[in-house]
Amino acid sequence: MDFKAGQFGKIGENMVAFELSKRGWIVFLPPYDERVDILAMKFICAKCGSPWDNTHTIHCINANCKNYVIIEKTSIKKAKKCRKCGGIFTRNDVSSQSNTCPVCKTNTLEEFPICNLCNSPVAVKENMCKNPQCNSTEYKIIFRSVQVKSTHLVDEGRNLGFNFKYQDLLNDDRHFFVVYLRDEENCVEKHRYWVMNENDFKEIKNIETASFKIYQNDRGHYDPSSLDKFKYMEEETCELKKELEEAKDNKDYDKINELRNKLKEKDTFLKFDEKCIKD
Ligand SMILES: [Zn+2]
Ligand SMILES: [Zn+2]
Ligand SMILES: [Zn+2]
Repeated sequence: MDFKAGQFGKIGENMVAFELSKRGWIVFLPPYDERVDILAMKFICAKCGSPWDNTHTIHCINANCKNYVIIEKTSIKKAKKCRKCGGIFTRNDVSSQSNTCPVCKTNTLEEFPICNLCNSPVAVKENMCKNPQCNSTEYKIIFRSVQVKSTHLVDEGRNLGFNFKYQDLLNDDRHFFVVYLRDEENCVEKHRYWVMNENDFKEIKNIETASFKIYQNDRGHYDPSSLDKFKYMEEETCELKKELEEAKDNKDYDKINELRNKLKEKDTFLKFDEKCIKD
């Protein structure tokens, strides 16, 4: 398939957006050509920074109950509570048709779901921090902006060619550059990514040149090995994730930490999750 240059750039933006979605980011692509190709947002715990679970979860409010973390809908018992005296009555005490309180005799009963194990009230879960040691009920939203540089191989396939423009450089540690290459290997389509934050960018690029600052035509040819530490290593990431699941099953916390650190080196998209000054 042949793509026009403009379409090729859009493919890169969509592929990068997809990779971010896989890592829990909610992505937005501006419909017009802006300085930013992708805006990504994420809900995190305001207290510990762990991912925040946005699913609607119901639980039993009794901390000693087995249904405290989550209660299945089938385990919720229908009951009624009196608005006047506060009495709670199961279906054995009052029928579903009646709203008359058996104690104070007023018509002030309302539906009140309770736990089938301990009869405690059930509620929408508010602590949704994925860190089991954290009790926070507050989340916050963080943002990242992304400039995608679609590239292709130059110099007989030895180097990556792409150009940076001065306006690509936002003075913000939440801004990222992702270099994208669509490639083929034995007729199989491959997507390759190099993920850089603002400081990484300044490391590979002298931003003080006239061609960068004034003329906007600073096309660079980059030896891929010079970008290795920014490269997303898909196969290694996959292997490490399997090992991580195993370590989690075994509750091997040292191993979990070790694997998480290794994962950060191989899955360079995890850079997006690192804490930024303006978060
Ligand atoms: Zn937390
Ligand atoms: Zn009552
Ligand atoms: Zn319970």
